[in-house]
Amino acid sequence: MPEGDTVWNTARGLERALLGDVLTGSDFRVPRLATTDLTGWTVAESASRGKHLLLRLTREDRAMTLHSHLRMDGAWRAYAQGERWTGRPAHLIRVVLKTKRSVAVGYHLHEVTLVPTAEEDSLVGHLGPDLLGEDWDAAEAVRRIAARPEASIAEALLDQRNLAGVGNLYKAETLFLRGLWPWTPVADVPDLVGTVTLAQKLLASNRGRWTQTTTGSLRKGQTSYVYGRRAQPCRRCGTAIAKAEQDERVTYWCPHCQPKPH
Ligand SMILES: [Zn+2]
Repeated sequence: MPEGDTVWNTARGLERALLGDVLTGSDFRVPRLATTDLTGWTVAESASRGKHLLLRLTREDRAMTLHSHLRMDGAWRAYAQGERWTGRPAHLIRVVLKTKRSVAVGYHLHEVTLVPTAEEDSLVGHLGPDLLGEDWDAAEAVRRIAARPEASIAEALLDQRNLAGVGNLYKAETLFLRGLWPWTPVADVPDLVGTVTLAQKLLASNRGRWTQTTTGSLRKGQTSYVYGRRAQPCRRCGTAIAKAEQDERVTYWCPHCQPKPH
């Protein structure tokens, strides 16, 4: 599931493949950018902001940012020059960026946009503190969450305007580890700082690898406490893990470890 850590890893992969190099060709297979040609632009920076990817390009005194979002199914893959593109089916290709030494291919990307770097805020300015950013600010995330005390804590953690990077997996796992019923109103959560700090730690611990684990185990089937484990026994108490729709997303929780507050 592409969440903040996946996007962070993707940004590092693009950095390794492209950073400092001049683009020798580009191919956009999204209608809005079909005629765009980035040949001659230098890749100056590859950054992530929450779940958004920002590839910053320069040419003489101009600076542009190529923005993309992975949502549920997008991915960037880097290939060496001449290597076969084996990542995904070709019809899913949205962007191809070539340099002398490598090729970056974006599959099933969403919100592919090219803006002057000075105007990046039009795309990511609404985001709350980035869990994996150098400027991560737990107090600011809590201030934003607390501004809507009636929202459920699950909804608040997913709202990228509060904090940027948590998706459905880290939401469910954070709530389990904090013993919070997913529908608990923000106003009734005893320790919001502890909650967002834990979410940050879970994401940060998975930087640099593609397997997402919250249990510490990298073994298949043992990487989560509740996420994706409907009807399986809770690792802590043995109760069957529950699954339900919540705000058009699914939520997993242990009815015993995360009881509804009275
Ligand atoms: Zn339990």
